[in-house]
Amino acid sequence: MKEEKVKTFENILRKHSLKVTHPRLKVLEKIFNKDTATSQPELEKSIGEDIDRVTLYRVLNIFEEKGIIHKVFDLHGTATYAICSTRCTTHQHHDEHVHFTCSTCNSVYCLQEIKLPQITTPSGFTIDQIAVNAIGTCNKCQSLKNASLS
Ligand SMILES: [Zn+2]
Ligand SMILES: [Zn+2]
Ligand SMILES: [Zn+2]
Repeated sequence: MKEEKVKTFENILRKHSLKVTHPRLKVLEKIFNKDTATSQPELEKSIGEDIDRVTLYRVLNIFEEKGIIHKVFDLHGTATYAICSTRCTTHQHHDEHVHFTCSTCNSVYCLQEIKLPQITTPSGFTIDQIAVNAIGTCNKCQSLKNASLS
């Protein structure tokens, strides 16, 4: 890990009043460095022996609670995690963007630039969360398809 990056991750933890620990830094780095959401099994695989399963589970839980990462389910119903927008705080997620799941590679993308529409509810109804999941073919799989066709 580059010194500068470590500093940034430490700052993220401190900003959310979390103690800086090796597992927390490691998990943050892994999730941060991927352009798609990461599942717990994927994290286990890429981190390896370094962090045990229970610790990983706890780190993911506290990150989600603190508004550092948000959970999105992939096509198989597996929870995947992506970095939150800077507006997320403890118990208050503001990740109001479309999630895109690729039906070919099962990757989950945060489409940050596509905001969710404002929805007015009938009286007596309150919305806690709106989720829009788009399913299709991601740009990587699309270019592979195109390449095999030409
Ligand atoms: Zn969030
Ligand atoms: Zn794909
Ligand atoms: Zn997202």
